Amino acid sequence: MSDLESISSAYRTLLGVIEQVEPRIAQATRQELTDQRASLKLIASENYASLPVLATMGTWLSDKYAEGTVGHRFYAGCQNVDTVEAVAAEHARELFGAEYAYVQPHSGIDANLTAYWAILAHKVETPALAEFGAKGVAELSEADWETLRHRFGEQRLLGMSLDAGGHLTHGFRPNVSGKMFHQRSYGTDPNTELLDYDALAAQAREFRPLVIVAGYSAYPRRVNFAKMREIADEVGAVLMVDMAHFAGLVAGKVFTGDEDPVPFADVVTTTTHKSLRGPRGGMILATGEYAPSVDRGCPLVLGGPLSHVMAAKAVALAEARTAEFRTYAQNVADNAKALAEGLLRRDARLVTGGTDNHIVLLDVRNFGLTGRQAESALLESGIVTNRNSVPNDPNGAWYTTGIRLGTPALTSRGFTTSDMDEVAGMIVDVLRSTKPTTTSTGAPSKAKYTLPEQAREASLTAADTLLAAHPLYPGLDLS
Ligand SMILES: *Cc1c(COP(=O)(O)O)cnc(C)c1O
Repeated sequence: MSDLESISSAYRTLLGVIEQVEPRIAQATRQELTDQRASLKLIASENYASLPVLATMGTWLSDKYAEGTVGHRFYAGCQNVDTVEAVAAEHARELFGAEYAYVQPHSGIDANLTAYWAILAHKVETPALAEFGAKGVAELSEADWETLRHRFGEQRLLGMSLDAGGHLTHGFRPNVSGKMFHQRSYGTDPNTELLDYDALAAQAREFRPLVIVAGYSAYPRRVNFAKMREIADEVGAVLMVDMAHFAGLVAGKVFTGDEDPVPFADVVTTTTHKSLRGPRGGMILATGEYAPSVDRGCPLVLGGPLSHVMAAKAVALAEARTAEFRTYAQNVADNAKALAEGLLRRDARLVTGGTDNHIVLLDVRNFGLTGRQAESALLESGIVTNRNSVPNDPNGAWYTTGIRLGTPALTSRGFTTSDMDEVAGMIVDVLRSTKPTTTSTGAPSKAKYTLPEQAREASLTAADTLLAAHPLYPGLDLS
């Protein structure tokens, strides 16, 4: 039996076992593979992890409680979890050239929350403890503790605005980050739609934040982290970089020099499941100065680590250290460029006029559509994207004016630059054929539209052909 035949047979057996307990879950799991195989996935935050990464998550490592850190646990019997966590952290440090890596956060949001509180511990709590002559918070008098709690609440954070491409954890009010910090956001230049470092520096001088957060979810360009460091230094701020979206491009050495955040940031947070192609999870890298604070992620923010997921992070990070991964990361960027050029050649408008990372932000105004209409029309034509705000979006955050496209997932399936050009053609054909319906007052609807059957069918057929040429998990057969 080949490896893939035995893996297929193992998955069939496992799904059979699950089926005996709850058939609906076995069926949904099978169907998810079928659906993922059948969709042209351009969701910029999604990817396909390798079978070794997926397999690593499905084990009894999940059963162990291991609060604490390697060699210093609040539970007995953590020797194997120690190995898992130490190996994952070692790969992370060596891959990214970081002084310290913390692989316990369960998600990107957890990583950010842990990082914020670690920064507050280092910059606010530690000096306060010295001032009050206490070794730890438990020793503080009620009055001193109250003073310290107020100091936490007085701190300022400067992050990228949501509609310029920032993330909700960068100080957006509905998120806890916007409630725990006084927050202001920086945007992009209204003409170029690019980050305006001079405007950001002026804002930082005026606002004097404790933390400047760089990083994005929907900005189609690289960031100059050397400049970010200069700005942070000038105002005495901590520089935190959230590379959740582009960690794979850092790992794969597509972003080097000033575009690599690790040498410049005090703290770097990331997810592990986006362009990095690992299990769903989070991670923090830090300088030695911040390491002791981040290391207290449990009990600061987190409870027990997900040992099975830390194991899968170790496997994914080992994969990310290979030459194949570097090729993959370069292909992600090349494919994004090909997609952008394909769209531009067909007269589409892109935010910032193009891309130099893995994201393309398509402004659908000149098709007469909202982001919501474009997203739905593309979805029924076999192209999975998500609607997204553009800077100063006239349609707001629900209907939006943009479509965010990303290449990590299709690149994992082996899509090439010429495939991406074909995808660009399909997108433009569908959007040109889509017309908003008019409401009873004669105004165009923001949600409803019509799409001729012929255009939809043509796109679905083209998508099938492309997907068949680049199978997902080739050889994995559950039937
Ligand atoms: C996706 C993302 C996150 C959140 O990650 P989750 O794992 O969904 O919690 C945080 N920051 C940025 C910039 C992201 O893109």
